[in-house]
Amino acid sequence: MVHILDTRQLGRPGIIAATAVETADGIALFDTGPESTFQNIVGELRKIGAAPEDVRHVFLSHIHFDHAGSAWRFAEAGATIYVHSRGARHLIDPAKLVESATRIFGDDMPKLWGRVAPVPEERVRVLQDGEVVRVGATDVRAIETPGHASHHHVYHWDENVFGGDVAGVRIGSGPPIPPFVPPELHVESWLESIDKIRALHPARLYLPHFGVVDRDIPAHLDQLEERVRRWSAWFRDRMRAGEDEPQLIQPFAEYEAADLLAGGATREIVRDYETADPSFMAVTAALRYWRKYHAQDVAL
Ligand SMILES: [Zn+2]
Repeated sequence: MVHILDTRQLGRPGIIAATAVETADGIALFDTGPESTFQNIVGELRKIGAAPEDVRHVFLSHIHFDHAGSAWRFAEAGATIYVHSRGARHLIDPAKLVESATRIFGDDMPKLWGRVAPVPEERVRVLQDGEVVRVGATDVRAIETPGHASHHHVYHWDENVFGGDVAGVRIGSGPPIPPFVPPELHVESWLESIDKIRALHPARLYLPHFGVVDRDIPAHLDQLEERVRRWSAWFRDRMRAGEDEPQLIQPFAEYEAADLLAGGATREIVRDYETADPSFMAVTAALRYWRKYHAQDVAL
């Protein structure tokens, strides 16, 4: 039994989910949501008859605070936290992660993400690409899927995939979009990761932002791929034309909003996308990506 737990980030439903799977060995949670919403998740667990101590396994797609912020809370309650090798040390010592997030979010950090605390090393378990964890009668396989972050996993069990952020953000009636965030955006890896998810032929794809895709997953992935290509090319062309970060923030916000509206989102849903995945982050991410990996393509 799978339950989508709504963190109600910033008081809004349908922005950030934690996905709970009932197993014979307690609850397996796929991402936790930010620590600021921990009590909301405790309330959501209560609705399915569970307490925080019943969460025995926490599988993290990656360590960004909207996905892993409450990991230390569940570790405190006794859960094992599974994570990619490159993410583990930042759970154990979050100082660098806080520093880089503060550069992006500044004074909004506490409001957005709540309290940050280390996960004790003995509660962290590193998973390698393809590694399987048996949880009750369920085999959960980690699949390395970089692109959004270099330390990203999706998880595969039965006909299900927990897609993390590399599988796209899709809210309400809106289309799937790629959350481009600094500092690890890598377009080629993202496209390869989409191919890896395709090859699993899942019947259900769970998205932290937000909920389950259980119809026409190939179309979801095709639309996501198309936007990874088109959005990154949009940035390349603007950079070639000599535009820099401050000049691109507003135009990209408008470009993305128009794309979302054309893809079926309402104005209100466009705002929810902005909450889940602020468009200014894509500008920093894409400029860094092009300069770092393809400097000759964006030279003036
Ligand atoms: Zn996210």
